[in-house]
Amino acid sequence: MKCFSHNVDAVGICKSCNKAVCITCAIDTGRGLACSENCQQDVTEINIITDKSKQLYGIGTSGKLLPTNILMYFFFAAAFLGFGTYKSISNEQPDLFLLVIGGGFLIVAALAWHRNKNLNINC
Ligand SMILES: [Zn+2]
Ligand SMILES: [Zn+2]
Repeated sequence: MKCFSHNVDAVGICKSCNKAVCITCAIDTGRGLACSENCQQDVTEINIITDKSKQLYGIGTSGKLLPTNILMYFFFAAAFLGFGTYKSISNEQPDLFLLVIGGGFLIVAALAWHRNKNLNINC
C-alpha cells in the first residue's frame, strides 16, 4: 500500500478519513494516525466520543468492583452450593435442600447484578 500523496510505502491509515499515510504525512495522535491537521482534530474528537460512550455503557471500567450486596449473594450461593455438593457426594445422594438454597441465592445475585448493570446507564 502506498501513501495517498507520495509514492512511498504507507505506514498506516488515517483514523478519520481512512487514507493511507507515509511516515512523512502521518501525524501520531497517540491513539491513531491522522493525515492532516484537520483529521488530527477529528481523530481527537473520535477518541473523546469513544471514551464517553465507553463510560456511558460501563465498558472498560473493569477496575470497578461489584457492589458488596451482590458479592454477598454470590458468596452465599457459592457456600451453599459448595456445601450442598460436598454433602451430596459424601452421602451419595443429592442434598436438594442446600442445593436449592444455593441456586436461589445464585438467581438473586444474578438478578441484582443485572438490575445494577441497567442502572449504570443514565442516558
Ligand atoms: Zn485523514
Ligand atoms: Zn505521504
